[in-house]
Amino acid sequence: MMSGEIDVLYKEQLDATKCDNPECNNPDCSVIVFHSECHPETPSWPTYDSSDGLIYFVCCECQERYLAVAPASEFDIPLELPKDVDDES
Ligand SMILES: [Zn+2]
Ligand SMILES: [Zn+2]
Repeated sequence: MMSGEIDVLYKEQLDATKCDNPECNNPDCSVIVFHSECHPETPSWPTYDSSDGLIYFVCCECQERYLAVAPASEFDIPLELPKDVDDES
């Protein structure tokens, strides 16, 4: 595998992941924030590598790729985006 020791998350794993923000009191919160284990206080860059089609999260401190997420195609996501956000022109 190209991704080496990096965990790859697919939709099934992401769906099973809960918000781990200790300050978040919403039990239905579905927002996941990724942070590296090497530098948990440091933000991460999401980067897309078209050679293997994965989104890699890169630690801004040490530039280490620590997580990969497999993107879904737009047809895989049964999501109704709020229409009036962009239609206000
Ligand atoms: Zn939350
Ligand atoms: Zn780091």
